[in-house]
Amino acid sequence: MSMFEDIPVEVGVIYEGERVRKNDMQVELGGPKVKEKFELAKVRPMEAVEDGKVTIIGPDLKDIPEGSVVPFGIIVETAGPTLDAGLEGVIERRIHGYLNYIEGFMHLNQRYDIWMRLNKKSFQKGLNSFGYLGKVLYRLFKSELSIIEKVQITFITDPAKITEKFSEAVADYEARDAKARGLKDEEVDKVYGCVLCQSFAPSHVCVITPQRYSNCGAISWFDGKASASIDPKGPVFAIERGELINAEKGEFSGVNETVKKRSMGDVNKVWLYTAFDYPHTSCGCFEAIAFYIPEVDGLGVVHRNFKGVTVNGLPFSTLADSAAGGRQVDGFHGMSIEYMRSKKFFAADGGWNRIVWLPKEIKERVKEFIPADVVDKIATEENATNTDDLKAFLKDKNHPIVERWVEETAVEEAPAEEAQIEDQTMPVMTASSLPITAGGFKIILKDAKIYANKVIIKTLKDEKAK
Ligand code: SF4
Repeated sequence: MSMFEDIPVEVGVIYEGERVRKNDMQVELGGPKVKEKFELAKVRPMEAVEDGKVTIIGPDLKDIPEGSVVPFGIIVETAGPTLDAGLEGVIERRIHGYLNYIEGFMHLNQRYDIWMRLNKKSFQKGLNSFGYLGKVLYRLFKSELSIIEKVQITFITDPAKITEKFSEAVADYEARDAKARGLKDEEVDKVYGCVLCQSFAPSHVCVITPQRYSNCGAISWFDGKASASIDPKGPVFAIERGELINAEKGEFSGVNETVKKRSMGDVNKVWLYTAFDYPHTSCGCFEAIAFYIPEVDGLGVVHRNFKGVTVNGLPFSTLADSAAGGRQVDGFHGMSIEYMRSKKFFAADGGWNRIVWLPKEIKERVKEFIPADVVDKIATEENATNTDDLKAFLKDKNHPIVERWVEETAVEEAPAEEAQIEDQTMPVMTASSLPITAGGFKIILKDAKIYANKVIIKTLKDEKAK
């Protein structure tokens, strides 16, 4: 008898990666329209957990009108003789994978960013209670992580209860992250990899070091270590760091070898501390994305919950689509908010001296980690809404990036003969992966460098006028 015989829909890995579009949606739980939502795992004493108990606080699925978007919280409480609080992050991240096994159910993101949808078809088949989700989670936790002896699960849709538990959850996440700070990449010989997101991003491999948190912000180096030790065949595994190839960029031989193997040869080289050339791959559930702003030669950062458009006129979703899917795209870097608190945060690109724009909300959250001499020189949406304003702001504040402009002007003013030589030897464009669609084929140029005798830049207006 299947473990899920009494569940009205199928449950299995084949449903991972399944999307539920708005038109097919019975209900949306959490997501960008809801301010407070969370999922949290806790390790409790044995006597505090009733094995198999599922509690629903607030309306159940069958009581929520079709097409609704509701606030949502999940608490998974576990107990076991060898379980300790250091495993909470690992247990919590499994909620994502396990719920995605359910036919017609989609789970995205993590922690305070969760976004879930149930489709109408599965609801009509009878998946009309959180009780079924609880049974699936309970059975998968017990069968896949034998270290867990007892599990009880609580689903919350009652807004008042969510508000009460939300602040507790946020304090828990912060305590977990703070514990992981302090250790340096140079001090460890093992780092950790995660391929949980390969169902959405087939060539994506997260490389989790003490100073580079996972893209989703849910797995620290300590979590990686704990996960690999309790479930060595699971999605999180140890990587022998190997030889240090480039200390500035953050390149290690063992990381390159493992990423190449786990990405099926798609990604051969990863530089951990930069957004350029060989940046870390971007999956789909990164908390924020860094993007290059050529007009000022700086980097902007925008997080998933930012509602407006960034300083280059594009919203988070468009920027995220430019890099998501496990790609390595020059100038883009999907990342966690916690990475912004690391000393290695884009260290090879100039660190905070290279950051020119970020939403106010994020600036406030990471303010104490931004060097005091640059914090007021970084623009937010309140200071600049386009690149002209940004340039003026940076100049006015004398942001460190302005020095780079001076250097570039000096290159531009080099003697004509020298400039000519530059033209012949420098590529006009480089890209680690450049897709071209032509004649019914998609051609992907790897590590492309394009040379041209002449570059003609035309505005779209000129083209239309023809
Ligand atoms: S973002 Fe990275 S660490 Fe987080 S679940 Fe995905 S692959 Fe794993």
